[in-house]
Order: sequence, then structure tokens, then C-alpha cells
Amino acid sequence: MHRITVLESLSFDDVLLVPKYSEVFSRKDINISTNLGNKIEIDLPIISSPMDTVTEDSMATEMHNYGGLGIIHRYNSIRDQALLVKNCENATVGAAIGVSGDYIERSQAVLNAGADILCIDIAHGHHALMRHALKVLRNTFGDDVHIMAGNVATLEGFNDLADWGANSIRVGIGGGSICSTRIQTGHGVPTLQSVLDCSVSDRDATLVADGGIRNSGDIVKCLAAGADAVILGSVLAGASEAPGEILKGLLTEDGMPMKVYRGMASQEAQLSWRGKVSSEEGVSSTVPVAGDVKDILFSLEKGIRSGLSYSGCSSLLEFSTKSKFIKQSHAGNIESSTHIKSR
Ligand code: IMP
Repeated sequence: MHRITVLESLSFDDVLLVPKYSEVFSRKDINISTNLGNKIEIDLPIISSPMDTVTEDSMATEMHNYGGLGIIHRYNSIRDQALLVKNCENATVGAAIGVSGDYIERSQAVLNAGADILCIDIAHGHHALMRHALKVLRNTFGDDVHIMAGNVATLEGFNDLADWGANSIRVGIGGGSICSTRIQTGHGVPTLQSVLDCSVSDRDATLVADGGIRNSGDIVKCLAAGADAVILGSVLAGASEAPGEILKGLLTEDGMPMKVYRGMASQEAQLSWRGKVSSEEGVSSTVPVAGDVKDILFSLEKGIRSGLSYSGCSSLLEFSTKSKFIKQSHAGNIESSTHIKSR
């Protein structure tokens, strides 16, 4: 008989971090820099997602200027992507690639244009095509280039990608705000659970949490669970530096103008980058315009520093070893969100 085991999992709102005795006197003294391996170190553990409504040259440049990292999306011609990379002079910058078709020429072009990181960007990264691509890329470009790869949801996936040659690994399947993978396919793992599972890996690769991260509290929970950095999509998509025009005549209920933010597997995105739709696993939506990305990052940075201070930790390494999670009930979750009853 086929026995089915159903495992438990935790999402961001299922847990809280327990405050601890602290000797951190100033949040400025907390070191939130992170080493992603293979010569890539960033001062702020935040990466902008390789999506066509999030990261092109302006976003990548500002991410670098503020201490983070931007990864230029791959939904364009090789020439256009290389130009976007080139425009980010003096910016540590990443460039996304796929696992088939033109990915070797694309890699060569973006590296020539100055990319410091190749990011193999596919929906289901624990795949034979990923193993093949990593092998070919390592044979072609050697060990010196930093390769980020993903996405995976499990420790087995994480370890395999590390063994196949990835330096950093994107962890999270089905959690993105514009993602419909779980609805379409029934597959996925809550992002926080995947981070918890992958963080016990004994491999050298670093862990980048990706998908469903809504605010600095979620970032802090990812870092406590063992992530070395996080990738953000929706949180950055409203920034002035994110590609896309402000939509004319469309306002939020509060009167804020809006911009398009779309999943790269949405019908709209697929039609514009490949002229046809195969598997549709995302939606196209809108986000309120959010001002300059440096102001968004400043606010996230403050939240991260406060988060470490509540656990009495002065570095990300200390935080990932000392922090303590508790589960919260549904009632606890309601108490955890602002719940003032106005009269
Ligand atoms: P967000 O930060 O919750 O908005 O999620 C962004 C992440 O969703 C990206 O970094 C990708 O990993 C993932 N993603 C992007 N486009 C799609 C899609 O169309 N379907 C599923 N996941 C997507």
C-alpha cells in the first residue's frame, strides 16, 4: 500500500521571533552586510528580482548605490540586456539567464558588458536542465564567475544545485505575490518553511529567500531562519526606478497612482516577451507608486536593524544562530497586526 505522509509547514504569519536580552546600544553598530560567496559581498541583504517590472539599469544602479544588488531580467534580446548591464557602470550587478536556447551567448554578452553575477532564473530549478546548464557554464566560464541559481523549495534541491556548481541559491516556490503556481499545479512550499529546511545544508552555497516577502518583518524572519539575503519583487515594483509608466487615470482608494507589476509567467508578460503563452503561472497586477527606491530601502533597513536588536544580535551570522521562533495562533496573528477599533 502507498502510504502518504503529510508534513507540517510554517508560513511567515505562523511565527514570531522571541525578544531577547540585548546589549546592542545603537542600531548603527549592527552589521547587516552579507557574503554571498565567490567574491560577492553586499552591505544590505536585499536583491531586486529579475522581472521586467522590477529590475533594469536604473533599479540595479540604485540597488548598488544603497548597498544591495539588482539582477537585470532576461526577457529581452541579448543586445538589450547587455546594454542595460553596461549602463550600470560601477554597479555590482547581476544578469539573469535561462537554461536553454541562447543562454551561453547571453552569458558571454552580459559578462562582457560587466555583469558580476550570472543568475540562472527558472521556475523549477531542481531539474536536469539546470544540472546541464550549470555544467556547461562552469566548463565555459570557469569557477571565478559567481553563479546564482534557482528556484528550489527543498533541502534536496538546494544540495543538488550546490553540488552542480551554484554559489548562491534562490529558495522559494509558489510564494510570490503575483504567482499562481500553487493554484495551477498544487505544488509549492511556504517560503519560510523552505528557508528553514534549506538552512541546515552542509554545503558552501548561500541561501537567498525569494517569494512572498511583504515587509521588513518578513525579511527579518527569513534572515533569522538562515537566509543570507532576500529577493524582493512587489515591495520594489512601485519605486520610481522600476521599469514601467505610471498608469493614467488609475488610482488606489487612497488616491495613489499605480504601476503595473506582473509575474513573468503571466499571460501578459509571456505575450510580450515570447509572443505566445505556454504554462500560465502568474498574474499581471498593479502596485501603488512608492517613490524613490532609496527611501523604500532606508525604511526596510531600519526594520532589519531593529529586528536584530530585539534579538540582541549585532550581525546576521549571530542572528541566524541565536534567534528563537515561536508559533502563533490565529488569535495571535490578529493581535500581531494593527487592530485599533476607531470610534
Ligand atoms: P514577490 O516579492 O512576492 O512579489 O515575489 C517575487 C518572486 O516571484 C520573484 O522573485 C520570482 O521568484 C517569482 N515570480 C516571478 N514571476 C512569477 C510568475 O509569473 N509565477 C510564479 N512566480 C513568479
